[in-house]
Amino acid sequence: MSDPILKVTDLSRNFDGIKAVSDLSFVVQPGEIKAVIGPNGAGKSTLFNMIAGVTPPSSGEIHFQGQRIDALPTAKRAEMGIARTFQNLQIFPEMTVLENVMAGRHMSGDIGMMRAILRLPATVAEERRISAEAMELLGRFGLKGLATTRAGDLSFGQSKILELARALACDPTLLLLDEPAAGLPHAEADEMSRVIRELNAGGMTVVLVEHNMRMVMSISHDILVLNNGQWIAEGDAKHVSTHPDVLAAYLGEEEDA
Ligand code: ADP
Ligand code: MG
Repeated sequence: MSDPILKVTDLSRNFDGIKAVSDLSFVVQPGEIKAVIGPNGAGKSTLFNMIAGVTPPSSGEIHFQGQRIDALPTAKRAEMGIARTFQNLQIFPEMTVLENVMAGRHMSGDIGMMRAILRLPATVAEERRISAEAMELLGRFGLKGLATTRAGDLSFGQSKILELARALACDPTLLLLDEPAAGLPHAEADEMSRVIRELNAGGMTVVLVEHNMRMVMSISHDILVLNNGQWIAEGDAKHVSTHPDVLAAYLGEEEDA
């Protein structure tokens, strides 16, 4: 087996006495689609925030491509090849679709990000190249015709695809997707599955947090199940979907609801 692309070791994060993530260890192999599932409050978003560098861990280590990253700034991790989308859509509604993707290209640096928001061109040549690359990405996702549309005017499904395109603009090797199918109707969720599978076929490693079990079960090579911040099971769709602790965790959620 090859060296893992991502290695999480004894990772914990507390919030005012709540153990959001607790002594969590797992690896992600290069080229795989790994799903992270679990009931609401299981710690999935907190885990993503620690990998992307938004939330510092309370303890533990994160290694990416063999290098320890848990103390590095977000921008540095983005530069190294880690990109993410958010559980709550985070596009810039007042900017055009094209500008949103171009902003992603600049996101590897805080200064670049500010420049993108303020629309200050780097150099004309650089801006032109970035624009051409962003257009190409839009083309891949069928959004080219909407390049000059205000992002806030897109449908919800189109916005989710736009956010994904923006994450891809910095050419990541590891893509973290936080609920990419949330709120999408069946057909659009299936389209999202197709896009993720295609990216993965192109060599991209994907870690996917998702409640849509149809998506999780159909595209994941490996599934990690969390409950109350803790590792409870890991394996393929068949293993986790029949695991008694997994069933108990989800049953608990239904009883709470
Ligand atoms: P999930 O994404 O699996 O639904 P989260 O990672 O969002 O779970 O949350 C895990 C736990 O940590 C929850 O109990 C949540 O209330 C708590 N939590 C998450 N973020 C914060 C925060 N910024 N401040 C305080 N508590 C938080
Ligand atoms: Mg979450």
